[in-house]
Amino acid sequence: MAEEVRRVLLVDDDEDEFIVTRDLFAEMGPSYELSWAKTYDEGLRLLSLCEADAYMFDYHLGARTGIELLREAKGVGCRSPILILTGAGDRNVDLEAMQAGAADFLDKGQLTAALLERSLRYAIERRKAEQKLADTNEQIRALQEAEKQLHAAVRTRDEFLSIAAHELKTPLTPLVLLLAQLQRGLRGSTEMLTLVDTARRQTSRLADLIAGLIDVTTLNEHAFALNRERFDLADLARRVAERFHPQAESARCEVVIEAAGEIPGNWDRFRIEQVIANLLSNAFKYGRGKPVEMRISHTDDGVRLSVRDHGIGIAKENVSRIFGRFERAVSSRHYGGLGLGLYVASEIVEAHGGCILVQSEPGCGSVFTVLLPRDEQPRDQAACVHH
Ligand code: ADP
Repeated sequence: MAEEVRRVLLVDDDEDEFIVTRDLFAEMGPSYELSWAKTYDEGLRLLSLCEADAYMFDYHLGARTGIELLREAKGVGCRSPILILTGAGDRNVDLEAMQAGAADFLDKGQLTAALLERSLRYAIERRKAEQKLADTNEQIRALQEAEKQLHAAVRTRDEFLSIAAHELKTPLTPLVLLLAQLQRGLRGSTEMLTLVDTARRQTSRLADLIAGLIDVTTLNEHAFALNRERFDLADLARRVAERFHPQAESARCEVVIEAAGEIPGNWDRFRIEQVIANLLSNAFKYGRGKPVEMRISHTDDGVRLSVRDHGIGIAKENVSRIFGRFERAVSSRHYGGLGLGLYVASEIVEAHGGCILVQSEPGCGSVFTVLLPRDEQPRDQAACVHH
């Protein structure tokens, strides 16, 4: 590779000095290229082009000084290093030059090609390193800014989801009441009743979807402050199953509950109810026409709740994915849903220090097993492996 040529501009109103410098450059070899500006103003004009890798200003430039030119150079945005050259009697200029931002201060009387070469090389390389650092800092700043914007965008999206979900829910309640009234008023007309019944089912589906959206937005908002209280998990499971009786019926799923007596513990009742509800409604959705079994029992160090269906099952490669946000392993043409139920459930269970396991055989059904410690435990004791 050809060696990089470093371009240097000398501003000096004394031609003899230029000739001396030119000779030094000749000694320094082909990797340095010298150009010359005879006057302060000519120097200033060339400076503003920012073409040189380094500058050398003589201290005496007619009525003005190299330091003044240096200040003007900084003013016009010149970033390349500037060396100030002085005669033997100007040693006091050293401090002034340094304070003005000179890269070096050289006594012309002592200058050799080797000294000049080293001074220029160091100044240019230092400037390059500073530029690299500035570029890196700039990139870091840009990345930080992008990250901030991304966070803001996610926040806006979550806020939008939250508002949209609540807004969507508002007209639903009166709509449900209206349909119930209509149904009562239509007693006798079977055809109309069937239509209203379909409308009611669609409405309740809509309500479920919106409830799912609200669930996920509350997960974001509250970052999981659990309201623990002591209750019997078996009792809660029975209540949820009862609440889901209409869905079980319409999916033609018989629900069997097995519980080994009372299963008490310290959990967030509302959240655990969400978990059971999500697992049950999935069992009905993906296991239509087949029984669903829910078992609640003690384990050595906690409790276990499992929901088994005999439905479509889940392919092995999808098992870990389905717990992610908006992740689905079925086509939305065949099964409606937003892919939030298992995400919400696993977030809740993990916040309790527990985990959800799944065993599944495509075509035979799935078992979702929730393992929960009975009481609050340090988070790192939760070992969650999805099978
Ligand atoms: P949704 O049911 O709305 O798609 P979930 O988060 O509840 O969202 O489930 C994610 C995916 O996991 C589903 O799309 C489906 O592919 C799969 N899945 C969940 N439960 C079952 C189940 N009981 N049987 C078969 N597949 C299931």
